[in-house]
Amino acid sequence: MALMRALQKRAAGPGLELCEVEVPKIRPDQVLVKIEVAAICGTDLHIYNWDAWSANRLRLPVTIGHEFAGRIVEVGENVTGLSEGMLVTAEGHFTCGRCYYCRTGQGHICDDVKILGVDIDGIFAEYAAIDAENIWPLPDGFDPAVGAVHDPLGNAVHAAYVHGLTGKNVIVTGCGPIGLFCIALARQAGARTIIASDMNEYRRNLAKELGADYVVNGGADDLKSVVRRATGIGADVLLEMSGSRQALASGLGALRKGGAASLLGIFSDNVSMDLDAVIFNQLTLHGINGRRMYDTWFQMQAALEAGLDITPVITHKFKFEEYEEAMALLNSGRCGKVLLIP
Ligand code: NAD
Ligand code: ZN
Repeated sequence: MALMRALQKRAAGPGLELCEVEVPKIRPDQVLVKIEVAAICGTDLHIYNWDAWSANRLRLPVTIGHEFAGRIVEVGENVTGLSEGMLVTAEGHFTCGRCYYCRTGQGHICDDVKILGVDIDGIFAEYAAIDAENIWPLPDGFDPAVGAVHDPLGNAVHAAYVHGLTGKNVIVTGCGPIGLFCIALARQAGARTIIASDMNEYRRNLAKELGADYVVNGGADDLKSVVRRATGIGADVLLEMSGSRQALASGLGALRKGGAASLLGIFSDNVSMDLDAVIFNQLTLHGINGRRMYDTWFQMQAALEAGLDITPVITHKFKFEEYEEAMALLNSGRCGKVLLIP
């Protein structure tokens, strides 16, 4: 049997192990992908750090990771339309196909979803078996690093495209990779003014590079007065990408009456908020979960074809064996998107 290297969570507690495991065998409806580039998501960091969510959710051992680009090296006998040698990435949410949501075109909120690298073995490995249905082929000559970040870019597209951003004043709270993608998307869509906030100076600089007109120190500056000065009236749209209660409150407080927000950032505990402000200012709040299958993916493809440049978000590259260093860098926040190369 053939062996490969994989980054696995094998024991409850912080850390990962780089181990030798069997190359997965594909089912007839799957393809085997040789991973060229993997990217580290916040979820992988949570699993590495072993927070309460990870401890509750994971069954060990499991190979983690779900953001990748790679080449198909084997095609299951029931698969059509995919062939060996194709450069691909994939939607990492495997849906049941039977529930109310799946059957009404809302698979992204499937009742029985399985997540790659969480519920089933993921892609921090040399090879991964992926359901053909979830494979997203990339054009010939496509930059695999950009291919590897389609999953979080899709989150940003889903959150941003809920609103027509053309001519709008847009706030982005939280300039992690997904917030940074949102800035690039808003700029491309022709937003009037983009105001971004983060307490992390490294990420505020990236926000400027991606096209934010104003960057605010989320911890210290008064977002509302910056937004008022920049827009005269308040922002039309808030894209909440931090999962910070304080950012949510200040972002909503800086919207004009009738404004709207996409809430994508995940809060670690319950949030109490000023609902009177939502009611009397007639705000609209959109919860955003994952990527619409596959509307979001086509929108993302179109944005990239139209010239969306997200390469400044990708700041670091590590080899698999340097994973500890990569995770430490992510914990420090002095980075954008971090890649792992098998
Ligand atoms: P990230 O952790 O890299 O980025 C979050 C950023 O928010 C950080 O740069 C942090 O400094 C900043 N921040 C924290 N408090 C702030 C404040 N008060 N004001 C301004 N900025 C503040 O995360 P990411 O990978 O970019 O993802 C963004 C968020 O989206 C995370 O909360 C993540 O858990 C969540 N997420 C949600 C979904 C979904 O489907 N809803 C999917 C993926 C990620
Ligand atoms: Zn379902």
